[in-house]
Formats: sequence, C-alpha cells, structure tokens
Amino acid sequence: MVASPCSDCMMRPVMCCGRCNSTRCKLHALLPGDRCDRCERDWRDEAVTRRAAKVIFAPPIAILAGGLLFGLLLPVSLGGAIGAAVMCALACMTAVSAGAGACRLIDRSARAMFLRERGGDLPPARLLPSPRHR
Ligand SMILES: [Zn+2]
Ligand SMILES: [Zn+2]
Repeated sequence: MVASPCSDCMMRPVMCCGRCNSTRCKLHALLPGDRCDRCERDWRDEAVTRRAAKVIFAPPIAILAGGLLFGLLLPVSLGGAIGAAVMCALACMTAVSAGAGACRLIDRSARAMFLRERGGDLPPARLLPSPRHR
C-alpha cells in the first residue's frame, strides 16, 4: 500500500477508492467517477494503449462513414461541379466527425472499464458462499 501524504486518509477515512480500496479522508474524498492517485496514474499510463486503439479504429470508421455518405449523395451531386464540391465537403466533414466520435467512444468505454475494475479486491468467487462448504 502506498503511504498517503495525509494521515487522516489512513486513520479517519470517510470513503475508499472504488477500484483499489485505498481509503480517503473527508478532505481528500474522491468525486464520483474519480479514483485515487495511484489508480489515476494507472489510467494515465493506459493512455498509450488507448491512443493505439484510436489509431487502429478511427481511420476505418472515418473512411466508412465518409464513403457511405459519398455513395448516398452521389446521385444528388450529378447536378454539377458545385454539387460535387458540396458533397465532397460533406463527406469529409462526416468522416472527421465519425473519427472523432470513435475516439470519444473509445475514451468513454475505457473509462467505464477502468472505474469498474477492482484491483487488489477479493476475487468474486470468494464473495459467494461455497455450496459444498459442509
Ligand atoms: Zn486525507
Ligand atoms: Zn484506487
């Protein structure tokens, strides 16, 4: 266990980190959705992995969304050069926002997983009464 800079966190805790059970005093109580310093450091360490996931997932999604819109608007754009230019701009915009949306989705689901994770906790099997205990 990492020594806390505040003795109240150890001696007079009002809550504990939902991920690793390290205790926090009233002054250092964590906000909902926040985790203790050590867990937040884990979260930052995982940023590299998340960035890699974005690099893998965002471009195909952007291309797919842009391409889909391109195909949908193709009949409309046959009207001329202006139509084609508008369609291209729309397709590009869609691609960019789809890529950004994919990145946000990765962030959000990764955060949800991080908050649910409980390191150093009892394994779930231990929490259940053993059926053949007696
Ligand atoms: Zn404290
Ligand atoms: Zn923690």
